[in-house]
Amino acid sequence: MSTFCYAKCFAPFTNLIHAVTTKSNQMPLYGSLALHTGEPHNQIINNRQKIVETLKWDNTYHFVTAQQTHSDRIAVIQTSKSIGWSDYKGAIEQCDGLITNQKGVILTILTADCVPLLLFDPRNQVIGALHAGWRGTQTQIASKTVAKMTQHYGTQPKDLIAYIGPSIKRCCYEVDKTVMQHFQQTNAYDKKGDKYMLDLPHINFSQLLESDLQSRNIETSPHCTACDTELFFSYRKEKGCSGRFMSMIGLAR
Ligand SMILES: [Zn+2]
Repeated sequence: MSTFCYAKCFAPFTNLIHAVTTKSNQMPLYGSLALHTGEPHNQIINNRQKIVETLKWDNTYHFVTAQQTHSDRIAVIQTSKSIGWSDYKGAIEQCDGLITNQKGVILTILTADCVPLLLFDPRNQVIGALHAGWRGTQTQIASKTVAKMTQHYGTQPKDLIAYIGPSIKRCCYEVDKTVMQHFQQTNAYDKKGDKYMLDLPHINFSQLLESDLQSRNIETSPHCTACDTELFFSYRKEKGCSGRFMSMIGLAR
């Protein structure tokens, strides 16, 4: 049996469904959901099916996945069908952000330390999901996703509810000068010898504020993936692990 993490900020909206998966001793590969990290295909597919059964969502829902590449490309999902759910090659190429207003379409993001973000515009009934590692954070994919929701669906940023999911935090995310040079202008880091402890979730929070979201509409998960390896996969802490957990958001039919 798997358990899930939920965002409090989405709880008031009964038509919005979401979940963040956690590790499970009862599933092969601890419940990893990634098809691209070299693990047996059928076991990952079984894990995906198990997750969906456990969530007890409508069994006609479709699932959209992307071949995340630390890009700043955002896809607008305009059809109601699964994409890349049972076949990695079918996932959207070079894409790290997804937006849609299609009901019954679940947007998914896979991570193991990088920052997953889920967005909901209750006024226009539009959702977004994105992946921001340091590269995506540097290229401001969170702000670009908000802008794309505005452009395509008329989203007003002040209406947006945002969840910054479990990711590696300032306590554990050590980077060197080459990464740090991109974030020198933020104050979201501590110096530690010749290294830096960088706060990616906080930088994404700041970017959302700069995009005119209201701070009271943004929730950051308390979990650090590297501190909480019982619950989450951590690429850093688990030394290049192949496991990934999934953040999911959808509009109920
Ligand atoms: Zn930590």
